[in-house]
Amino acid sequence: MRISCPYCNVQMDIHPTQGGMETQCPGCNGRFQLPIPTATPTSAPYKTDMYTPGMQDFAGKKIAAGICGILLGGFGVHKFILGFNTAGAIMLAVSLLCFFGGCLLVVPIIGTVAMQVIGLIEGIIYLTKTDAEFYQTYAVEKKEWF
Ligand SMILES: [Zn+2]
Repeated sequence: MRISCPYCNVQMDIHPTQGGMETQCPGCNGRFQLPIPTATPTSAPYKTDMYTPGMQDFAGKKIAAGICGILLGGFGVHKFILGFNTAGAIMLAVSLLCFFGGCLLVVPIIGTVAMQVIGLIEGIIYLTKTDAEFYQTYAVEKKEWF
């Protein structure tokens, strides 16, 4: 580590183990006590259940997204809530196209039903996750489907 002499400001390299010991400056021969090196902070290991800034905000969307997924899943509302606009738009488009197409052609609106089922399953998945898991999966990993 690098320190400077308190008398002449000459820079010198000392070994951290010398901290607290008295030394003599090579520039002005002044004697002084070396500073004790401050411990370098060890980075905390990542924990998924650790509360991080923004997590509570995001977790607050969990209930809304889950309920919207269950009730309105076919329209992708729950995906828009989580910021997955592309995935939400796909669900909405498939639902509407199949709904109107299905009505016109008088065939089962399978696409709309399928989207609703996907939304229902996703809503249930959201609600069964803990806040930490929910944040990790959808805010950090940005998993768009299920
Ligand atoms: Zn000096």
